Order: sequence, then structure tokens, then C-alpha cells
Amino acid sequence: MMAEISIVVPAFNEAEGICAFLKQLDSALSGIDSEIIVVDDGSRDGTWQAIKSQKENYANLSAMRFTRNFGKEAAILAGLRHAKGRAVVVMDSDGQHPPSLIPQMLEIWREGRAHIVAAQKTSRDSDSLAAKANARIFNSLMKLTTGLDLSGASDFRLLDRRVVDALLEFPEKVRFFRGMTVWTGFSTVNVGFEVPPRIAGSSHWSTSQLAKLAVIAITSFSSRPLGLIFRLGLLGIAASFLLFLQAIYSWATGIAISGWTSLTVVILLFGSANLLGIGVLGAYLSQIFEEIKRRPEYLVGETL
Ligand code: UDP
Ligand code: MG
Repeated sequence: MMAEISIVVPAFNEAEGICAFLKQLDSALSGIDSEIIVVDDGSRDGTWQAIKSQKENYANLSAMRFTRNFGKEAAILAGLRHAKGRAVVVMDSDGQHPPSLIPQMLEIWREGRAHIVAAQKTSRDSDSLAAKANARIFNSLMKLTTGLDLSGASDFRLLDRRVVDALLEFPEKVRFFRGMTVWTGFSTVNVGFEVPPRIAGSSHWSTSQLAKLAVIAITSFSSRPLGLIFRLGLLGIAASFLLFLQAIYSWATGIAISGWTSLTVVILLFGSANLLGIGVLGAYLSQIFEEIKRRPEYLVGETL
């Protein structure tokens, strides 16, 4: 069976909402030749049992379960690898990506208007204040360092087969789906949607996880921070030359002892600039480390 469209759904600890989500999805897909691929990202609640219980209700449903939690990026990748459709839709399993949008996205693709149909968040009303602030910081950091504008962008997107095949050819292990699809440069049409609240449960993203994602997203997309350190170093050299002249002058005029405050400031400033620079190098080094190990992105325990 080669479906027109594959729906790839990562799920982590969604036991309470996944059945309701599948129902929503199924009714949105009525009359559309589709397959649904749920990737259980090592859930520790009853998500897998819930998916299994739905197997008989939906003939086009297949699923796999990771041996442990490998993260959403790995789950998306696994889904893309298994998808057979001529187009693939990636979406969350918590109801925050409304399935009712799929027919509209599909129509745009069918008309040949775009290779990528990206669902854009028009409002974040259901997000907490902290989540909104995190998203804003993340997006401006991305814009600053990589030039990619991801504000409003979500992982909810339809990809033409050509885009999927292109993404699957990327050899890298550490992935950032949202940015990579933009990077491919295929023609894109945006569709707006309001983010509904979760069907059940709460978001899995903590601020520290989001910070980690930001480091991955930036270091895997741009080496601009390395160039920034270099420029910072040049600036430091210029500043220290001026200070050098001042020191010589103080020595020559016999007032050398009075420089304690400026000395402390200089040491603190350059000490922390050094640490910052080493930190940025470390982020790239760990990125190289992750890539060079060539480990599989995930391991599948069971399939359905
Ligand atoms: N998810 C996943 N693995 C994880 C974390 C999340 O597959 O380690 C899935 C989750 O089940 C949901 C989607 O990714 O379908 C988005 O997660 P979440 O709702 O927690 O993120 P948010 O909507 O707050 O960005
Ligand atoms: Mg969510």
C-alpha cells in the first residue's frame, strides 16, 4: 500500500490523550488515502498499551516503540524513515496541532503551490508566561546566530516526498527538524493556526531542556558564535593596547600604584570573556563528539 499521505506522530507519555487524538485525526482524514505512524518515544506510562488498544479501530495505523526516551527529534526521524506517503505530515500527539488543519494543508500541496506547508502559530494563548518568554528568547537567539527566523514556526508541517528524501539524506545525528526543513529551501506556504490546549497532561519541555535544544539548534546550524569570539578577542587586544599605554604612562609619571580598581575590572572582564569563549568552543566540541560517535539515533523495541 502506498498512501497519498503519511502522518508521523511522536508520542511521549501521552496515555491520557492519545486515544482522543487518534479519533480527532481519523475524522480529519476521512476520505483521504493515508497511513498513521505513531512513534512511542519510550513512554513510561500506558501510552503503548493505549496505542495497541486502538490498532483494531484503525486499519491504517502502525506504530513503533523506542527502547527508551530518545527525544522528539529521534521520534520524528524514525517516523520519516518509515513513512511511505507521497507527502508526510509531522504533528504532535497532544492535540496542540489540530488535525482539522490537515485537509487545508493537503489542498495547498495537491495544487502544487508548495513543497512544504508549514503551520504557523498565530497565538500562544494556551502557553504559560514562562513558555512564551522561553520561546521568544530561543527564537531571537536563533535569528541572531543562524539567520533563520523561526518565530511562530512549529514542527507541524506537511512535506513533499522530495523534502523527506532530502532530509533523510542528511548524515548528521544531532537533528533539529524545524530548522532543517527551512534550511532545505524548498518552496513553502504558511498556514496559521491557534494552539489549542493539550488534550491531557502537561508539556514535557523544561527550561533547561529548552536551553539544551537551543545549544543544539545553534551549534548545528551556524559557526557564527565562533566568529563572534574571534571578534571579541580582537576588541580585547585593542582595549589592552590602550591600557598598556596608560600603564606605561603611569609608570613614567610615577603614579603607578593607584591602578587597583581598573586592574580588578580588567581581570574580571577578560577572565569571564575567556570562560565564555571556552564555553562556546566546548559546545561545538561536544557537537562534534556526538556526531563522530556515529551511534544510531534511536533503538526500536517493539513494532505494531
Ligand atoms: N515528545 C516526544 N518525546 C519527548 C518529548 C515530547 O516524542 O521526549 C512529543 C510529545 O508526546 C508531543 C510532542 O512531542 O506529541 C510535543 O511535546 P510537548 O507537548 O511536551 O511540547 P510543547 O507542545 O510544550 O512544545
Ligand atoms: Mg504540546
